[in-house]
Amino acid sequence: MKRPQRQSDGHLISDQDRYARFRLIGWWDQEKLGSASVLVAGCGALGNEVTKNLVLLGVGEVVVVDNDIVENANLAKSVLFRPGDTGRSKVEVAAERLAELNPDVRIRPLHGDVLLDLGLGLFRDVDLAIGCLDNREARLFVNQACWRMGTPWIDGAIQEISGVAKVFVPPDGSCYECTFTDLDYRYLNLRYSCPGLKSEDIAQGKVPTTPTISSIIAGIQAQEAVKMIHGLETLASHALVFNGVTNFFYVTEIPRREDCLSHETYPPAEETGLEAHAATARELMQAAFGTDEGACVELDRDFVTEISCPPCSETRTLNLPRDRIAAGRGLCPSCGADMSPEFLQSIPASSSLADRPLADLGIPQHDVVRVRRETAVRYLLLA
Ligand SMILES: [Zn+2]
Ligand SMILES: [Zn+2]
Repeated sequence: MKRPQRQSDGHLISDQDRYARFRLIGWWDQEKLGSASVLVAGCGALGNEVTKNLVLLGVGEVVVVDNDIVENANLAKSVLFRPGDTGRSKVEVAAERLAELNPDVRIRPLHGDVLLDLGLGLFRDVDLAIGCLDNREARLFVNQACWRMGTPWIDGAIQEISGVAKVFVPPDGSCYECTFTDLDYRYLNLRYSCPGLKSEDIAQGKVPTTPTISSIIAGIQAQEAVKMIHGLETLASHALVFNGVTNFFYVTEIPRREDCLSHETYPPAEETGLEAHAATARELMQAAFGTDEGACVELDRDFVTEISCPPCSETRTLNLPRDRIAAGRGLCPSCGADMSPEFLQSIPASSSLADRPLADLGIPQHDVVRVRRETAVRYLLLA
């Protein structure tokens, strides 16, 4: 007969406790994990591995966001997907499989676009976020959202059989944008000149990866999350780089760039109960200041009022968030060139757009919206 083992606190291990072996680790606190909430942005190869790990570890709540469906090409890299799942929402399938792995964990699948559908309130509600993304733009969005809400995040990136994990802790550490070079900015700016060119068309270059590198980097991400939840020292403001060809592993510091544009942190937001689909910008102004006079609602997502081709005298009114513009709509009907967009950064009370529901202006549900009047700014949380 096997001798019963003892936990670090001297208690006998119970066979009924699925986490009993974790509790043998001296500093482990299963209750801390069980009360933690983690947002996982992306449910591809990395997201499958990260959510699998979080669920096995008994993290209390896992919110997973992706707007893709399962395709045949995903099956070779995704532990949660099966051949019969093709055509279904990635997050819905993942949630079913994760619930089988560990019914203790609350899994919240959100079928939506990271850039368009994630309100800041979601970043506020979780203890940390994990980026399992494949493009700069989505990472930059997650980074800004985390900084605004004061939420740490762990980024992962993979290519072929190599990868990197980075940990960012606001407000004092370095952030994802601090790593940007001129080339990164040029790449991002390309998007501004081409409305109707959706991010996936240029950013998701179908980078080749393997299930082995996704499990290595996702393993590091999930393990850093465990350490962070325990208050242990993490890779904060550092990158762990792994070259799988040479087996070279190293950690490098990410210096904080004082001119970085992502270091804004919001004060605590005021809850409003207003719904993005029902409330208008004007109602939000009135909720903030008791009047809409002289007020405006700030927009975080690029909003295109119109596009034009001056040489052809072509103008088209759009009034749409940039990422909702269908591919091809940004082309001039006369000459076929990219039409130049007119962006709006804020909606003033004088605009007819102030009477549109916030969702029409590209503001997602549970977002934190800045409302300004003269020098006063209020931060309002939507339902
Ligand atoms: Zn920065
Ligand atoms: Zn033209």
